[in-house]
Amino acid sequence: MKIGIPGGLLYYRYEPFVRTFFNELEVDAEYSTRSNKEILDLGARNCVDEACLPMKLFHGHAAKLQKTCDYITVPRIMNCEFGESICPKFRGLPELVGSGTGKSNQIFTEPIYMNDKEKLKKALKKGCRQIGVSDSRLEKAFRSALENQSNTSFGLNEDGYRHRVFLAGHPYNIYDSFANLNLLQKLHHLDIGVITEEWVNRSELMGELTGFIKRPYWFFLIHNFAPAMVLMKRKDIDGIVYVSSFCCGTDSVTIELIKNSIGSFPFLVLKLDEQTGEAGYNTRLEAFREVLK
Ligand code: SF4
Repeated sequence: MKIGIPGGLLYYRYEPFVRTFFNELEVDAEYSTRSNKEILDLGARNCVDEACLPMKLFHGHAAKLQKTCDYITVPRIMNCEFGESICPKFRGLPELVGSGTGKSNQIFTEPIYMNDKEKLKKALKKGCRQIGVSDSRLEKAFRSALENQSNTSFGLNEDGYRHRVFLAGHPYNIYDSFANLNLLQKLHHLDIGVITEEWVNRSELMGELTGFIKRPYWFFLIHNFAPAMVLMKRKDIDGIVYVSSFCCGTDSVTIELIKNSIGSFPFLVLKLDEQTGEAGYNTRLEAFREVLK
């Protein structure tokens, strides 16, 4: 029995956990390749037209694995941090993938609360029982996976470039070089390094969320707006580059909030969609480098 693990969406945040967990379970797991044109085309065919690019890519990864695997894992992530909500599409991901690909061989679809170890273990237990893994093996795999996730350092903090920007966005847009058209490489080529949100600590983040009528609770808003403010005030950056998905609801609010809070500080928004033409994209990056200068 082979289990397919699609490498899209929040896999970019939880890869150490996922890999350790399935390794320790000693199941036959197949991980998807990096995103590419074939996966995007498959995703576009198997997903609703209105979905954002990361959703289509995830559908593409899932559809490709379904050709060779008996089951595919489609996590239903409810939240990542206590008190912070994520996009509802994550909560309905198994149904979205099922209706798109027409297959119902998803496992590990129980609601997952990444901030609550007991609830997380309970959710995984059900999937493990489905594939015949004992509770004792699950316990061991779970402990190792948690440990590896917390011991892995994430994020980028690059020195040695003429300029440095805060690279804002969701992990699957920042780290999927196919989706973002090799953004990091292009920035480096323009002598621009990046720093990401992981280099701002939790108390600094929270300090930027005061003064609103209601405290913001959207996960991606908090993790992009607040670091942008902290890094700008610290004078750690020369500008902000926000890599966003076309038709993302939370980004539309976050981007306006940042714009309204930074005055004339250099700010570039790059919207990703299914188009893979790079000419306009490159021109905008070059123009932004002139603004930084
Ligand atoms: S948060 Fe935005 S980019 Fe991410 S899945 Fe939801 S709509 Fe798509």
